Amino acid sequence: MTTADRSSQSKSKDMQRTIYLDANATTYTHPIALIAAREAMELCFGNPSSTHITGLHARSFLERAREAARTAVGACHSEEIIFNSGATEGIQTAVFSVLNQLAQSYRQLGKLERFRVLYGSTEHKAVPAALHHWATVLNVPVEIEAIPVNSNGICDHRFITERISETALLCTMAVNNETGVIQPFKPIIELLASPLGQGCLWFVDGVQALGKIPLELTKLGAHYACFSGHKLNAPKGIGFLYVRDGVPYTPLIVGGGQERGMRSGTENLPGAAAFGRILCALNDTQSGVFLGHADLLEAQLKLKTALLECFPTLQWNVDLAFCVPTTLNFSVEGVSSKELMNAFDAAGVRVSGGSACSSSQTTGSHVLEAMHLQKWRSQNAIRLSFGPADSLQDVDDACAAIRAAGSALQAHCMIPQRPARSDQAGQLLQHLSSGISELRSSQGNRAWLLRTEDKNNTLVADCTFALNELNTKLSCRGIGDTRIILLEQPQSSDALPSHWQALSSRNCSALLFHRPDAHITLPILFLPTATSLEELSSVLTTAQLPKQTHILTCNGAAASPMEAYDILSWNDGVLTSLSADRGTKASSGQIQVECTSAELAQNLRHKHFLVLDVREPFESATSHLDEILLHLLGKRISKKAAQARLSHLSFDVVPLSCLPQFLLECMSKSRTHDILCVCRSGQRSLQAAQLLHRTTGCNALSLRGGLAALLAPSTSLPSDESIGQTSGR
Ligand code: PLP
Repeated sequence: MTTADRSSQSKSKDMQRTIYLDANATTYTHPIALIAAREAMELCFGNPSSTHITGLHARSFLERAREAARTAVGACHSEEIIFNSGATEGIQTAVFSVLNQLAQSYRQLGKLERFRVLYGSTEHKAVPAALHHWATVLNVPVEIEAIPVNSNGICDHRFITERISETALLCTMAVNNETGVIQPFKPIIELLASPLGQGCLWFVDGVQALGKIPLELTKLGAHYACFSGHKLNAPKGIGFLYVRDGVPYTPLIVGGGQERGMRSGTENLPGAAAFGRILCALNDTQSGVFLGHADLLEAQLKLKTALLECFPTLQWNVDLAFCVPTTLNFSVEGVSSKELMNAFDAAGVRVSGGSACSSSQTTGSHVLEAMHLQKWRSQNAIRLSFGPADSLQDVDDACAAIRAAGSALQAHCMIPQRPARSDQAGQLLQHLSSGISELRSSQGNRAWLLRTEDKNNTLVADCTFALNELNTKLSCRGIGDTRIILLEQPQSSDALPSHWQALSSRNCSALLFHRPDAHITLPILFLPTATSLEELSSVLTTAQLPKQTHILTCNGAAASPMEAYDILSWNDGVLTSLSADRGTKASSGQIQVECTSAELAQNLRHKHFLVLDVREPFESATSHLDEILLHLLGKRISKKAAQARLSHLSFDVVPLSCLPQFLLECMSKSRTHDILCVCRSGQRSLQAAQLLHRTTGCNALSLRGGLAALLAPSTSLPSDESIGQTSGR
């Protein structure tokens, strides 16, 4: 689970290890699998189809792997095991075989005796996709229906029973990849053994069950079952399909007749050897490679305890009694999966969001939606999964890292039900809360904050938070005790706390905040609604502004937070946007605002950068950018030289939410060095660099790929940049 242990790098004191808790997505390749793959490449590199001795050696390697697979899944004959590229291919092959047979009988008889295909609504997407695809391609008129599930993801057996006599193919998974739910097979076995069920073929997706629950495919009576090596510590690109003796089969890939003509193409011998070695270890209870059930339960308990300590109101998205111990799917109200993933990632913990998030859209998980979970639970879901080849020490490390992420979130008031105590309140937040900043919540609430220079008053503009939530957020920033002036009347009729005041509505939308400075005066203008430059000019002529000044505007109606900010120039009654032209050039690529890590390494030698960590404070709290850079440089050059190199740099933590204040500072102090914005993946830093460039004209760069690119292990493959150069891209 901890990658630093497994690579040749030793754990450095100042750098955290990576805790990998996303085993349901893929697993690390176990050393025994690495050795077996290497042996297959170095010692047994022959083609298993060759009849000379080198070929025969390779074949014997392959057959030993097949035998291990047969034992692991409880198949009768090794001929029932067909090696392939993985589960997606296995799913296609099984579906194609059944639908092709149906298509043939439809052509002969002009009708289908069994015209239904049923699949669990929480199946991996490859299943419904393959069913619809092959039914269309083969032009077979089957009715494809999703079996509803209950709130614990268990298939509705009445639904299946009612349709079984007309069903040609039933597809169910043994263990769900998102929730870890073990599908109870007993009622299905009984149904398929009954007169109504006979004649229905049964496909089982066994991917997430292998190594976690016992599998006896022959006893089960399944006709097809797919498996994938990379889900159980073998490499990617190897898997196998169990095809019970005598069931319909049409090869998906034809050619050289490998795998007894059932799957052509020269076999992936290194992959099969590696997977075979893993399966041998699985078959040998004494191998010590995999944790037993009691240990898995202990690991689950440790993780559950750590999570509940951090998030006492956490909700498990499925009753854990129905699940394999290795998967925990949960949601925390008020904390989005993106925020949790960012906090976990910063603390070195890799987990998966139960829903796919893109920067602008959040799509719920089809599995949790099928279970009719409330929308917020589906949208906030996190899946944490470990594998049976992880150790209990790995789990202890994971718990410590989870606790670090939880404390960072709490200290920065990101857990609504767990406000930080005043002694915990993020020091950083207090510091950041001077001047102008933005508050945002994962539910999309926001407010602009403006703390007056004497620090006694805080103006709140364009606030969509409920009063109590706003109060909590302000207290957390250490500014709850200042006089709070809401620029608009709050929407709720709740009484305001005594030191709060609300001004009457719209006429405050053009409130000017003068910030006299040695060089320029910077009024700040809040624009809760979209306002044209003409409208603004007329407002400004009535205000007694200096003849020449700059104005920071925050447009509450802008599509994205970063587009909200603008700096306008007020020049003797003429108002112009400084940034329009620069913005167009930067977004059209005429001005380069991104640099690669290789360019950064070059630049570090001679340029003086201000490195801006634009992640949120709950992320920076567990991973300090300066320490990361020192660690990375220290791997290539001596620690002393690395420190000297870093002395060229200055560091600052300025999350996106606090960038407006930084803009003002940039405008007032003439900055002499370049700014390098860094975040986790390079998305937020790109927004920040574009904004800085657009509004202030300063030389701001974003590190492409973010920290992920910096921390990427060095491999023998050419880097992205050199590929670009050689291909003339
Ligand atoms: N089935 C399940 C339950 C899975 O979890 C996955 C992978 O996520 C697949 C099928 C597809 O497996 P593969 O990556 O081998 O194609």
